[in-house]
Amino acid sequence: MDRKRKFETLAVRLQAQRSSHHEHSVPVFETSSFIFGSAEEARAVFADEVPGNIYTRFANPNTDELISKLCALEGAEDGVATASGMAAVFLSIFALLRPGDHILASRQIFGTTHLLFTQVLPRWGISHTYADINNQKEWSDCIMPTTRMIYAESPSNPGLDVIDLGWLGKLAKKNDIYLVIDNCFATPYLQNPLQYGADLVVHSTTKFIDGQGRTISGAVLGNREVIQEVRLLSKITGPVMSPHTAWILSKSLETLAVRMERHCSNALVLARFLEKNPDVIWVKYPFLPSHPQYKLAKRQMKLGGGLVTFELKGGLERAHRFINSLELMSISSNLGDTRSIITHPATTTHSKLTPDEKKASGITDGMIRVSVGLEQIDDILADMEQAIQNSMQ
Ligand SMILES: *Cc1c(COP(=O)(O)O)cnc(C)c1O
Repeated sequence: MDRKRKFETLAVRLQAQRSSHHEHSVPVFETSSFIFGSAEEARAVFADEVPGNIYTRFANPNTDELISKLCALEGAEDGVATASGMAAVFLSIFALLRPGDHILASRQIFGTTHLLFTQVLPRWGISHTYADINNQKEWSDCIMPTTRMIYAESPSNPGLDVIDLGWLGKLAKKNDIYLVIDNCFATPYLQNPLQYGADLVVHSTTKFIDGQGRTISGAVLGNREVIQEVRLLSKITGPVMSPHTAWILSKSLETLAVRMERHCSNALVLARFLEKNPDVIWVKYPFLPSHPQYKLAKRQMKLGGGLVTFELKGGLERAHRFINSLELMSISSNLGDTRSIITHPATTTHSKLTPDEKKASGITDGMIRVSVGLEQIDDILADMEQAIQNSMQ
C-alpha cells in the first residue's frame, strides 16, 4: 500500500503522531517548552543526535504537522511556519542574500513586499530591479553579475497577471540564481512552483489556506538545504507561528481543495458576468479567454483562482460609490475568506505606491479587486448588479 496518495487525501489524513490519549483530531500543543527524562537526553536532543522537541520557537508538534502537510501538497522537502506572510517573505530573502546582492523582481507584487524592497532592503545593502511581469526580454536584460535572486508572484496581486514559471525556472537555473515564488493567490491546490524549478515558495497562509480570515500566518517551503538556512534565521530571530495558529491552519488544509473548487467556480461566473456589463471597462481573470496570458494560465493552473479584478467606468469616485453601495460583500483588505471581500487597491493595499509606481504596475483609480467567497453565486451577482446600478450618478 505505498501507492502515492492524492492531494485531498493527504490534506485530510496527514497528522502528527497520536498521543497516549488516542485522540482522533489533533490537540493543540500549547506549551513553550518540552521536558527531558535526563540530563543526558537533553544533551543528545540539543546536539541533534536524537530527534525531539526542545522549545516552541524551534519547533512544535502543531507546526511540524502543518509543515509536513504543506510539504506534501507543494511537493517540498521541508519548510518553516512563520508569524505572517511578510515574515515568510522577509526570512526567505534575508536567509539567502548578503549585502551587495541584487534581486530581480516582478513589478507586479503585493504592496508590503514592494515596501520591503524599496524601504528596508536598501538599508542592508540589497538592491533590486523591477521587470514587467509580461515582458520576458526585460527579465533577461535586467540580470546583473550581482543578481542572486528572482522574485515573483503568479497570479499577481492585485492585477492577476500570470508569469510563465517554467521559463522563469530555466532563467534562474541558467544564471545560477535563487528563484522565490509567492504562491499565495494560487495555493498549492492550483499550482506547485517548486515543480518548475523554484527554490522557495512563500505563502501568506492568512489568505486561502486559512480560508476563514482568522489568522495572520505564513510559510516558506523548499528543498532541505535552502530551508536549513531559513530555519536557522527563524530560530535565531523568532518570527515563528504559534501552535494554535498552526492547529487552525492544519484543520483548514483539510478543506482547501473543496473550498478552492467553489472559490474558483464562483469567480469564473462573476468574471463572465462583469465582462458583459457595459459599465465595466475591463475584467481580469486568468481563466477568461480575454486574459493576456489565458493559454499559459490554463496550462499552468488547475483552476483560475478566487480573485477577480475589474475597472468600473468613472474612476475613483465611482469606485468608492460602488463599494459603498454593496450590501452583502465586506469592505476589507483581506482575501481568501469564505466571505466575499471587495478592495480598492489604489487607496488601500497599494496606497503607498507613488503615482508613477501605480501606473507602472497597472493600478488604476477605478480598479476593484474582488476576493470571491463561498456565498451562493446568485447572491454575489445580485449584490454586484445593484451596486453597479446604484453607483451611477
Ligand atoms: C497578504 C499577502 C502577503 C503578506 O501576508 P501577511 O500574512 O499579510 O503578512 C504576501 N503576498 C501576497 C501575495 C499577499 O496577498
